Amino acid sequence: MSTLTTIGNQEWCAFDELQIPAIKARIDSGAKTSSIQAVNIKRVLRNGTRWAEFEVNPVQDNRSLTVKCSAKIVDTRVIKSSTGQSQKRYVIETPVRIGPNTYTIELTLASRDQMEFRMLLGRQAMQDFIIDPNNSFYFGDLSSDDVLGYYKHLIRKESGLKLALLATNKELYSNKRILEAAQARGHDIRFYNIQYCYMHMDAAKPEVRYRGGSILEDIDAVIPRIRPSMTFYGCALLRQFEGVGTYCFNNANAISQSRDKLHSSQLFSSKGINTPITGFAKSPLDTKDLISMVGGAPLIIKLLESTQGKGVVSAETNIAAESVINAFKSLKANILVQEFIKEAQGKDIRCFVVNGRVVAAVQRQAASGDFRSNIHLGGVAVKVKITAEEKRLAVRAAKVFHLDVAGVDIIRSNKGPLVLEVNSSPGLEGIENATGKDLANAMIMAIEKKLNYIPTN
Ligand code: ADP
Repeated sequence: MSTLTTIGNQEWCAFDELQIPAIKARIDSGAKTSSIQAVNIKRVLRNGTRWAEFEVNPVQDNRSLTVKCSAKIVDTRVIKSSTGQSQKRYVIETPVRIGPNTYTIELTLASRDQMEFRMLLGRQAMQDFIIDPNNSFYFGDLSSDDVLGYYKHLIRKESGLKLALLATNKELYSNKRILEAAQARGHDIRFYNIQYCYMHMDAAKPEVRYRGGSILEDIDAVIPRIRPSMTFYGCALLRQFEGVGTYCFNNANAISQSRDKLHSSQLFSSKGINTPITGFAKSPLDTKDLISMVGGAPLIIKLLESTQGKGVVSAETNIAAESVINAFKSLKANILVQEFIKEAQGKDIRCFVVNGRVVAAVQRQAASGDFRSNIHLGGVAVKVKITAEEKRLAVRAAKVFHLDVAGVDIIRSNKGPLVLEVNSSPGLEGIENATGKDLANAMIMAIEKKLNYIPTN
């Protein structure tokens, strides 16, 4: 009788046929089939046989290192995820190497799933093993340098741009993605915490300093990711860069204008960009007139400083609207009163615009019972196909502010698409996960194009 090999609850695997020399797998006897995280999965016919072409990001927490793979499809299966959702997945068959042993296993291609591990070895593959649930890496662990070493050929040689990411939290998904996308394209990108930057106003030699050194001189481009509470200081820093001619991927003016809901609305109306009928007020003596001006209830009342849907309420009747407005009035808050787009049924569309093109779009659906589709409030995002009119509207809305990158929120109304707002630091997580697109890479490529940068390798 042959002796069974023992493996741990995590192991490094290699797929020679897929050109994946190292991928960390979780060994999960709870799952039947093994699966690998794959994006941009396409079914193609090769000599009458069905093949899958797909991309794998083999390194945990890095979506910029991409291995292009293809394999024959041996089956299509409906898999129920841990959250109970069913998903159709292609199954391929390929040899996997674990330590000194190679086995041929079935592997499902798990698109878009936010898998904790890039690979899961299910119990079907385990007839040849005994699992030790309390230990891992029976065949040795790899350091992150070891892993990157395996994928060196996918990382461009450092050849050029010096980029600065100006933000507050390095650990945020979007910031991590921008850093890794720039590195994968061979750029030298540094993270600078806005709070720790300080400025030297000097007519002859203006400076931005960070921990005792100047960071202004040798930077080719700045990528600002300024959170709303930092707009004032962040934009001042950006102007310092702009002053010496450094390219900012969204300039200070564009950011501050788009953050001001009142100013945005004024710009939209002057440029003929359709929005819901909107009124602004501080402390109107005639609340009733303000309400009738936007067509009466049901309507939406927003605090001007609202973000993530927190200061947005709906009023079903004129009486309710009046009392909410009066309550806000007593707080001396600036408010926005807007017709309620009921037919949108709690959905809106986020278009991700880069350099005048919509590169991805998702529809966000509010949690049941809510009309606000913000992800922070429990809304869910799904990939959506948008119309040519919606695309044009999104591109025009970003252009009003001269934003190089923007998230444009559009609501579908009986009158056609309407712009709700334009965001100058659109988040990447929801939209990348829902669409499988590498938007951080699209941003870096847009900067390269703007700077006429041609990679040398
Ligand atoms: P915030 O900037 O706080 O996110 P928004 O103006 O984007 O505020 O509104 C939050 C959400 O409320 C939107 O994503 C949308 O789903 C919903 N919403 C906003 N305005 C309207 C409206 N006029 N009619 C219907 N739903 C709306």
